Order: sequence, then structure tokens, then C-alpha cells
Amino acid sequence: VSTPRIGVDVGGTKILALLLDVDAPDAPIASKRLPTPGTSEEVIEAIIEAVRFLDAPGPVGLGLPGLVDSDGVLRGAPNLPCLVDIELREPLERALGVRVSIDNDSTCALRAEMAVGVARGVDDVVLVTLGTGIGGGVAIGGEVRRGAHGFAGEPGHMLVDPDGPLCVCGRRGCWERYASATGLVRMANESASFADARGAITSERLVADARAGDPAALAIWDTFAGWLANGLANLADVLDPELLVIGGGLVDVADLFLEVTRERFLDDTVGGRARVRTRIEPAALGHESGAVGASLLR
Ligand SMILES: [Zn+2]
Repeated sequence: VSTPRIGVDVGGTKILALLLDVDAPDAPIASKRLPTPGTSEEVIEAIIEAVRFLDAPGPVGLGLPGLVDSDGVLRGAPNLPCLVDIELREPLERALGVRVSIDNDSTCALRAEMAVGVARGVDDVVLVTLGTGIGGGVAIGGEVRRGAHGFAGEPGHMLVDPDGPLCVCGRRGCWERYASATGLVRMANESASFADARGAITSERLVADARAGDPAALAIWDTFAGWLANGLANLADVLDPELLVIGGGLVDVADLFLEVTRERFLDDTVGGRARVRTRIEPAALGHESGAVGASLLR
């Protein structure tokens, strides 16, 4: 008899809960999506609502966007500050009556891609999720690395321009100001090409305009692809992975940037063209890999 499991990915803007069969985690049985509310009490209520909607007896895994310590508590989260230092496991277990496990959302995504996705059988992997910010997960020699505090793999706040725009973390010029969905929209809203609609550009419009062949939108995607390649090259210079996986919300439109990113990556990383084994691939589970990986936590 297979076991039902629930994985919940709590993002900066949305909560995605999936009901899965542990023997076939790549084919969710049911899902529930809710907007992420603004206070910790409301977030806890939203998680409880999503899990109850899925109505299954199994354990619950939770992926959180930020620095999750070994006790499962978020200790830093520029894109979800209301949850920092908030104990989630105890109130959720009390309300739901099942065991709750917690890890970083992108580390969850990495586990999912290694278990049933594009990173299956690959030992040296770096995964980045492109959403509100940029999350990350790192595996070396087939082992997921969590670091000294559990905080490893937060590439979104790598500094790429000290004079760049202010980041939600309080510093300037972090990678996620350029290569996340938020960064994409920011660059368009600050571009002279979009002066008529400044402040009103959305990622949906940039996708639609690019698909329609609009030169201004295509130029923004090209710039975005270059910034993405810059950061991936930095990661490859340190870790020399065999596989770089792109996950998160923007993976659904990877055809708009992936080829350019692959080509720029070869020029950006030291000895790029000698890195013959390094591939850049979209997450096989798409934007659901974080929730799938959370369901695999135990
Ligand atoms: Zn930052």
C-alpha cells in the first residue's frame, strides 16, 4: 500500500501544496494554491487551510524561502520576513495532527530533482530557483550540502554590482535584483523602452510581448539571460558542477532565456569551453519541484 504525502512550498508570493503518492512523486494527485499572506499567524492559517483541503492522513513536508536552521526555523528570509524566528512545526503539528518536517525550499527542489527529475544519478549539482528571489541548493559527490548552520545555497544575495539597486536584504546589487522574476520586471520598468508604461510592466506582459516578437521585450529577456549566466558562472567557478538546474516560477518560460544563458555561460566562467560536462537544464518537475521535494522530507 502506497503512502500519501503532502508537500508545501511557501514562497514569497504564493503557497503551493501538493498531495503525492510516495511511489510516484512526479505525478501529484491534487494541489492547492493560495497567495502568501503578510503575517506569520495568517501564513500558518493558510498552510493549515491548504493541507486540510488536500485531506490526506500522511506526514507534511514544508519548504521555506530562506535560511532554515537544523531545528526547522527560518533565521533569515528577505522575501518573507514575517516568518523569521517563528516556530512553525509545533503549531502546525498541533493543528494538523501529523508529523511536520521543514527545510529550505530550494534544497527541497534539489532533492526532488535528484530523486525523480533531471538530476537523477548526477553527483555534482547546483539548483537555482528563479521566483520572487533566487534560491539555491547544492549537492557535492551525491550528497546535499546544508553547510555549518544549514544555510548553504543562498546564491540570490551574491553581490554582482556594489553600485546596483537596493535589495530586500538591505545591501545593493545582489544577483536576485537582476536574475529573478522580480529582477526581470524591475529592469523592464527602469528601461527607457518601456517609458510609456513605467511601473506597470509585469512578467506576464514580458512573456506575451516576447512571444509576439516585440524587440523591447526580447531585449529585456536577453539582458536577463546574461545576468543569469553571470551568476551561474560564479557558482560553476566555485563548485564545478556537472549540472546546473533552473527551477522556480520562471522555469515555465525557460525557452525565452535558456539558449542565450547557455551560450553566455561558456564565455563567463573560467575555462568555460573546457567545462564540457557542465549542462544547464530546466527542472523536470517545473515550478512544482519545491513542493514535491518537501513531500519527500522525513
Ligand atoms: Zn540581497
